[in-house]
Amino acid sequence: MTYRPATTLIHGETERTPYGETSEAVFLTSGFVYDDAEQAEATFAGEVTHYQYSRFGNPTVAAFERRMAALEGAEACRATATGMAAVNAAMLSHLKSGDRVVASRALFGSCHWIVSTLLPRMGISYDFVDAADMDGWRRALSTPAQLVLLETPSNPMLDVVDIQAVSDLAHEAGALVVVDNVFATPLLQRPLELGADVVVYSATKHIDGQGRVLGGAVLGRQKWIEETLQPFVRNTGPSLSPFNAWTLLKGMETLSLRVDAACTRAAALADYLADAPGIARVWYPARRDHPQHALAMRQMTAGGTLVTFELAGGKPAAFRFCNALRLIAISNNLGDSRSMVTHPATTTHMRIGAEERARLGITDGVVRLSVGLEDLADLQEDISGALRASALRQPAAPLAAAPLCDAAPLRAAPLFAAE
Ligand SMILES: *Cc1c(COP(=O)(O)O)cnc(C)c1O
Repeated sequence: MTYRPATTLIHGETERTPYGETSEAVFLTSGFVYDDAEQAEATFAGEVTHYQYSRFGNPTVAAFERRMAALEGAEACRATATGMAAVNAAMLSHLKSGDRVVASRALFGSCHWIVSTLLPRMGISYDFVDAADMDGWRRALSTPAQLVLLETPSNPMLDVVDIQAVSDLAHEAGALVVVDNVFATPLLQRPLELGADVVVYSATKHIDGQGRVLGGAVLGRQKWIEETLQPFVRNTGPSLSPFNAWTLLKGMETLSLRVDAACTRAAALADYLADAPGIARVWYPARRDHPQHALAMRQMTAGGTLVTFELAGGKPAAFRFCNALRLIAISNNLGDSRSMVTHPATTTHMRIGAEERARLGITDGVVRLSVGLEDLADLQEDISGALRASALRQPAAPLAAAPLCDAAPLRAAPLFAAE
């Protein structure tokens, strides 16, 4: 029986022990014992199914993997200790010296490092393409490649890549298409249905979503997971702790409610910010003024839980804004029930350098807001208070004495498409 996502998140692929527990059992064990030497031999020969060692597989981790696969509509899933372990395993298990990778330029910092620093050390070359540059994708994929890595929407500028079009080009070039679907979550975007081969997650983000554990997942076809990914995971050991798998299963039960609530708040705050004083620009995929709005709404069912905006006063204004927030925390994490802001230019994207930041549009005034589950009015008041403080302490700014936010009520998202 196939259920809808909100139901699958709670009941998908449930397997109970003979005790009939309501919630999944935590098998916090590193290893497993055999009835006799013959059973051990048959297990290692692959003739009988029996857990061997939690680096290879564990019942609680398997419960998380089965539920993730059911949610994503994937044939198989392998869980990993972190999101980066998932990205790394998906790439290194598939690639070898002499191969070529094509990736979207706007990648999560550590994904960027793997592609641009680690892979070249192993004789794997790469090309970056700007998310929206379809001619660039066509050019890059007119020569053979073995893997394409996409992040959409991207961190932090929320650029959108056309998954279907790039997957088609990638397949012609002979490449496996890997989509980092963290920003969209499994609920808002389904890359496998758009032609991607593999989806990776940092489960640390929305799937836990409550600031507790790190985790990751790689999803794809059974044959690729079993023959390509699993030997890599089994022998290199980026395995997920059973306790963390259990925590992630608990996170999944409320994922749909949390993502819905955060998206509603993010959409309202994006509209509020777009009209707020001191804000030069807002990026949010569900707003009509997002440069790729039509594409975003074709491949996503909502705008997501992140809003990026640029303060007109550059870094000083951005810092004053962040420091004046009382409720919203300064943190580089995202997808949490707590709302968080980060200043990418001086944190997550400091290492890529000024030139690459300029290329990606990450100016010194850019702030990324991960919208949580607090009351929308409290979030709006916190933001309006911080904008006021940011403007007031900036003597040269024309906005100095303009407490306009107080009077600006949250609007009912008039800029949103009606889907
Ligand atoms: C956080 C994140 C990762 C890495 O996940 P970890 O769990 O922190 O290792 C990879 N990609 C994206 C888009 C992320 O947001």
